Amino acid sequence: MMKMDPVEKALTLRKTLIRDEEVLVADFSNTLQGKDTSRVIDLMPNVSTGEYVFRAKVNIKQLDPLAAKEYGTTFFDISEKTEEEIEDFIKVQEFDFPLWFKHNEEFNNVLDYNTPFIMQVAGCNFHNGYETGGCWYCFVDNESNDGIVATGKTFLRPEDAVESIMAAREKIKDVYAEQGLDLNIKVFRTSGGEPTVALDWILNAWREIGDRGLDFVGQLDSNLSTGMIVDRFEKEGVFEKNILEKLAEYPVKILTAIKGVDEENLQNNVQSAATMQTQEYSILKFLRAGFDIYPQMYNPNPMTLYSYLEDMERVIDNFSLRVHIGPLKLYGPNKKRLEFQAKKLGKDPEAFIEETIKQWKSNYEGGCNVIEDYLYHVHGTHYKKEVRSDIELTINDH
Ligand code: SF4
Repeated sequence: MMKMDPVEKALTLRKTLIRDEEVLVADFSNTLQGKDTSRVIDLMPNVSTGEYVFRAKVNIKQLDPLAAKEYGTTFFDISEKTEEEIEDFIKVQEFDFPLWFKHNEEFNNVLDYNTPFIMQVAGCNFHNGYETGGCWYCFVDNESNDGIVATGKTFLRPEDAVESIMAAREKIKDVYAEQGLDLNIKVFRTSGGEPTVALDWILNAWREIGDRGLDFVGQLDSNLSTGMIVDRFEKEGVFEKNILEKLAEYPVKILTAIKGVDEENLQNNVQSAATMQTQEYSILKFLRAGFDIYPQMYNPNPMTLYSYLEDMERVIDNFSLRVHIGPLKLYGPNKKRLEFQAKKLGKDPEAFIEETIKQWKSNYEGGCNVIEDYLYHVHGTHYKKEVRSDIELTINDH
């Protein structure tokens, strides 16, 4: 079967994802992601409609006493630790994104950015609208990611989004204060789906935040397939000119998901005719616009990873020092996707899932070894040794 063209799909998605100044987002009420995050912090409503369009996810559970208790893990009390001890602790966790905000002076401590407010644009251009659509490992359930206007999704205005996270922040602050804790969430994460399809909405939300003089910082997620779509939309007047440069004036960082390190690896992961050229073009576009990016890699082919790093480093200085491989795990939505696929192929679901997990694990471990090897030979350092928010990425134009 022909693989879906993600550029064409993004163009189609605009028709359902955007309605006047609103964007279609997931209503988390009946989703597994919603249920999981609300174990610690309740889902938060759109203050105008009462629909639950925000969740707050505690990234590193051990840093948050309520999350540590709920998840049965040991609480790491930062009030008794030095900055160095805190960083060392975070560095060894799987996910070190919090340290990317460590230079923001107005932040009290890591707790301010360990728990982002998350909204999810309800469609992805790697998703074909069917039960097996999207990246195999995607944590988003199909209904929240198929771009179809239906129950479980709702439209959201930028002003309502900002009002809602302000209200939620105060409520959460009070809950934590009752426990003697000072929690002042600062991060507004626009995720998905593929939120860059709705960049105009995102810029308007940040304008709202800027106009109100609020102290939020942002995380924008991207699957790195939309650089050329942004160009096209600017040309056609769908997006205003220099939209990314305008967004980069706000304190927003981009979680750039590297979905493959060779064309076959990429297309197999995302089930779509994505190209390495577009992936690289999209990374460069974010960097040229002035963003700090977090290159998070998923399910790389260890056999081609070394040469991918060499190629990328010819274009972006220090690229390999910033790359992080995200471990993949089985979770409700991706388990369901794999079960459907097994049925389609006439295979035993359990065995099929086991085989897939084995492959993910092997690519993760093999990939980490390759990065370690590369960093040692090329940069004389080790993987995960450096706090990566300190390392600058610069485009090598010659
Ligand atoms: S790009 Fe992200 S949202 Fe889209 S299918 Fe892949 S993992 Fe899911």
